[in-house]
Amino acid sequence: MNRVSVDEARELWLREDDEELKRLAGEVRRRYHEPDRATYMVMRIINYTNVCVAQCDYCAFYVLPNQEGGYVLSGEEVFAKIDELLEFGGDLVGFNGGFNPRLPLDYYCDLFASVRERYGERVEFYALTVAEFVFLADRAKLSYAEAAARLRGAGVHWVTGGGSEILTEDFRARHAKWKYTVADYLEAQRAIVESGMRTTATMVIGFDETLDERLEHLQRTRDFQDETGGLFSFLCWTYKPYGTAFGGREISAQEYWRHIALSRIFLDNVEHIRTSVLTQNEEAFRALDYGADDFDLPIEDEVTQKAGARISLDLEGLLAIPRRLGYRVEYRRAERPSAVATH
Ligand code: SF4
Repeated sequence: MNRVSVDEARELWLREDDEELKRLAGEVRRRYHEPDRATYMVMRIINYTNVCVAQCDYCAFYVLPNQEGGYVLSGEEVFAKIDELLEFGGDLVGFNGGFNPRLPLDYYCDLFASVRERYGERVEFYALTVAEFVFLADRAKLSYAEAAARLRGAGVHWVTGGGSEILTEDFRARHAKWKYTVADYLEAQRAIVESGMRTTATMVIGFDETLDERLEHLQRTRDFQDETGGLFSFLCWTYKPYGTAFGGREISAQEYWRHIALSRIFLDNVEHIRTSVLTQNEEAFRALDYGADDFDLPIEDEVTQKAGARISLDLEGLLAIPRRLGYRVEYRRAERPSAVATH
């Protein structure tokens, strides 16, 4: 199968049944992965602060500065959470918090350096999302290249593509007008790749985005990968509406699976397509039949839990599901420093 255009992808979505989407997605998946193999990680998202000025209307997590209930985790609290992750057999931390104007870049550099010093190679961490990185660099009045160099100097290897939701300017204006522009986001992510750090692509569906907006997001992702080759993976999850200002309803698991298939077909230049156990629970594993090859087993993420996500700590029970579907599941360690390019 040749690369599909946006128009062809729209036709696939509108006209093809699940079996055909699965067949085509399976064709692209087999270019990268054995058909019956899936990989996973055990990880924890550490939400280091819930104070945020961005005020996205789909978020149930944040409080404004000076509002009651705001927090910033201490180093000891962060270490305790990492120690607990190690007890669960996990080795990946994702730091994710709000746009807290009281935290300077030094707070982050000190935190990441202390985690690296304490845990060495036992733990890998996704330091920030691109969205937080944009905010930090702007607050510090640094170029994206300068901010990326500071993080690298603090021992950071990964700044992941979180906070992208739907990468269209219209979507951002409707729901998150103080977060960043799409142009800023992509420029920052390019600087992250050029600094030698690794990054990933993400997407969230199920707000009020149109099919064309979903396709624009996929097109931007594929173009970015063509230009930089810097995306390790693509992870899509679904919006949780509970407790948010925007509200709404959850989309069906079937719609999610079909979107995973369309993403696998369209993103022919991205090796890993990841399915979201955090937001789809047991239903996430069926996405392996629709072209996904990898997933996390998260033990905590306050952002999505506040909006209604449910986390199971019965990891063996969860792993039994893809096994029943016929997959060999293998643990995948996050890439370690030696595998990260240096400039
Ligand atoms: S989604 Fe992130 S940036 Fe937006 S309000 Fe919530 S914490 Fe802030």
